[in-house]
Amino acid sequence: MDVRDPQARALGTALWSPRSEIALRFVERRTGVALDTAWWRARIDAAVARRAGILDAETTACRLVHGEGDGLPSLVVDRFDRWLVVQLLSAGVEAHRVEIVEALRAIEGIEGILARNDASVRAREGLARVVEPLWGTVPETIEVHEHGVRYLAAPHTGQKTGAFLDQREARRLVAGVARGRALDLFSYHGSFALHLAATASSVIAVDSSAPALERAAENARLNGRTNITMVVADVFDFVREAEGRGDRFETIVLDPPAFAKNRASIAGALRGYKDLNLRCMRLLAPGGLLYTASCSYHVRKPEFLGMLEEAAKDAGRRMILRAITGQPADHPEVLTIPETGYLKGALVEAGD
Ligand code: SAH
Repeated sequence: MDVRDPQARALGTALWSPRSEIALRFVERRTGVALDTAWWRARIDAAVARRAGILDAETTACRLVHGEGDGLPSLVVDRFDRWLVVQLLSAGVEAHRVEIVEALRAIEGIEGILARNDASVRAREGLARVVEPLWGTVPETIEVHEHGVRYLAAPHTGQKTGAFLDQREARRLVAGVARGRALDLFSYHGSFALHLAATASSVIAVDSSAPALERAAENARLNGRTNITMVVADVFDFVREAEGRGDRFETIVLDPPAFAKNRASIAGALRGYKDLNLRCMRLLAPGGLLYTASCSYHVRKPEFLGMLEEAAKDAGRRMILRAITGQPADHPEVLTIPETGYLKGALVEAGD
């Protein structure tokens, strides 16, 4: 819809959510733009073009539309091989469902589109929370390749849209440096563990969800990996007990869920991150590597790095910063729209 200020000056074109706290989401600086199928198609084609080179025989899943990062606020589209999983996260995009599906069907090689519209933000938009096919059929599980590793995505029931695509490049980074005894904390379907297992001698994958680790075990079989052990446990307890036993690891991945869900919980979240990170630092063998991440939008990059510094101090170890990581190219972050950025990570090495 066209948006004008009280003096009737044109502000632009926006998607409208009548019942949301966020009533308008701007998509054009001009007025008089018809948000028809051709318009959606042009934006979606631009998003697909931005990802040129990501998908190939070795990598068959990535995010195709990252909301505002692709100029399509509240629309998320993930591609898993020949299928798309879509999230229509506002009343504004819901009103354009027909045009969006038309535009997505035109993407080459697509056989089915599923809406994972069960996200809680839909309730705040006055929308129903449902999982439903939008076009064709989407299988219960889809075998996906990620830099040569195979895993099963669960588009209908898995977390987010069926898998965590945002750590793809980080998994490749750690696969390149992993060795010795390795630990994958908050493993979910074992995605990091599978990559670690190629070069590490053994991997322990820890998660509190037994069904998630059953899927991890299935994924290990799919890749012919026999050096991954699944442990159903609370990670906070696991690392405390491992420290008590004097366990040491050459490689650790720490990829927790978002601890800070809102601004009020930032301080508590930072304490949680620091506690886990300092314990992981103590668990490192000399020269050992820790890849640590935070997907809390509310914990910004400076706070994340500050937390790591504090953790290193309290761990009493000399930690060397080997790399700072962010979002992969299929999760574009717009510098002037901080909401498009949430994932940050670091690779650190125990220097003593
Ligand atoms: N590393 C995964 C994604 C992790 S998602 C990947 O790359 O795909 C977060 C995971 O943490 C979920 O699987 C959830 O079951 C698990 N989890 C949440 N709280 C936990 C806790 N306290 N202890 C262990 N696992 C936990």
